[in-house]
Amino acid sequence: MKKIIVAGAGHGGLSAAAILAQKGFDVTVYEKQTRDTIGHDWHDAMDIPAFKFADIPVPPEELFKRGLHMCYMNPKKTVKLVMDGGPGVAQSDCISIDRKILINYLIDHCLSQGVKFVFGVEIISVLTENGTVTGIKISDNGEEKCITGDMVIDAAGMTSPVRRSLPEELGIEKEIPEEDTFEIYRAYYENTEKFITDPNYTVFFYNCGKPGIDWVITEEDHIDVLIGKFGRISDEEIESSLKDIRENYPGMGEKPIRGGNTARIPLTKMLPLLVSDRYALVGDSAGMTVPLNGSGIDLSLQAGKLLACAVEAASKNGFGKEELWQYQYRYYTLFGKNLVAISVFRRFLGAVTEDDINFFLEKGLLSEKEIGMAGGISGITPAYVIQKLIAALPKAKLLPELLKTVKNMPLLPVVNSTMPSVWDERQVSKWVSLYKEL
Ligand SMILES: Cc1cc2nc3c(=O)[nH]c(=O)nc-3n(C[C@H](O)[C@H](O)[C@H](O)COP(=O)(O)OP(=O)(O)OC[C@H]3O[C@@H](n4cnc5c(N)ncnc54)[C@H](O)[C@@H]3O)c2cc1C
Repeated sequence: MKKIIVAGAGHGGLSAAAILAQKGFDVTVYEKQTRDTIGHDWHDAMDIPAFKFADIPVPPEELFKRGLHMCYMNPKKTVKLVMDGGPGVAQSDCISIDRKILINYLIDHCLSQGVKFVFGVEIISVLTENGTVTGIKISDNGEEKCITGDMVIDAAGMTSPVRRSLPEELGIEKEIPEEDTFEIYRAYYENTEKFITDPNYTVFFYNCGKPGIDWVITEEDHIDVLIGKFGRISDEEIESSLKDIRENYPGMGEKPIRGGNTARIPLTKMLPLLVSDRYALVGDSAGMTVPLNGSGIDLSLQAGKLLACAVEAASKNGFGKEELWQYQYRYYTLFGKNLVAISVFRRFLGAVTEDDINFFLEKGLLSEKEIGMAGGISGITPAYVIQKLIAALPKAKLLPELLKTVKNMPLLPVVNSTMPSVWDERQVSKWVSLYKEL
């Protein structure tokens, strides 16, 4: 029986693990959290079609809440863009689900398919032999152990120790640049006055000046606060956003009743190369989030299904990158390519000021249409981004940033049309170099 190691119980790894175990592979997930502590203390927005795509039964209705009624606001809080549902997804199929419930549901599904779990072990690094991945090194109660297998699926998140310790010659990027990451404070506070806004979910651009987004969701019994900044967030920034939110949300409690910690996610386009012999990246460890808003669960679950199909095909031939490339090719053509322009746009947003954002929203340059497209995975083309950015030209001081941002956008159609559909060392390396320029 072929032995598959899944490093980290990330969503994409679990999605792939269930399918592979069901197909008869010997699959084990190694996870540093325990079964009791796994998952975060908050809920996430995702959608029902992602489960269906990934061959995961839709969770029972009592585990989640349907519907999404939200709005976006400029820093001055003068313009409100109301959104319902997601791009191509009916509002009733947009759900919110507690992270701990979701991850435990996925683990239960994996167990029902025959996946094994080793909880409470820290992965230290990858294991390689002659430059090929052969397994992982873990620390189990302080004792180092080498775990070998036929293939490693890296689902250990943005700072995966597996990806970071890969040999250079595999050509896989080890670090995600700090400016392409998002650091987030998340906490629930008491809603002592049962204050509910309409919509109840508001996303504020550049709250208190620094590039990023804050959101506030009012529920009968709590106020859910997220404060996120591009790059790193400081305690002072958290305090200043909390102060501003408190002023606008009467009755918000002083101390968090849930959460109150920070976490990081990548806000970038997919990494240029996701596969090597006997190794593949999935989820945040592959940079699979929506670059503007950081949603990554749907993408990870769906990528896991594509990965499982490629791993099954590759098993006949020693899990070679030639077959695993099919995973990257299918993921990019179905999802990844639509997110590249958004990541360029996101970089531009990271360089503009609070005043610029007020200008974009007040002049309608950033409207429901763009937000809808950027929150999802379709519709933003290079031509569209260029047209929008040119419309921003009256803010002449933006010109240098604008030019820097759009400089390589015309390359995108070339990158999309030249991605090799089958592995060819020279063609792939040419494609990877071109993709890196975007
Ligand atoms: C505050 C916040 C809110 C978010 N909200 C949403 C949302 O509403 N909707 C949405 O779609 N996405 C959301 N995201 C993004 C989402 O969390 C990720 O995109 C998604 O989890 C995909 O990541 P992953 O599953 O690949 O990895 P992760 O969720 O990061 O999982 C990686 C796993 O690997 C384990 N691990 C890491 N290192 C080691 C190690 N050394 N040894 C062993 N195990 C290890 C971790 O414990 C973890 O279980 C949010 C993220 C944050 C931070």
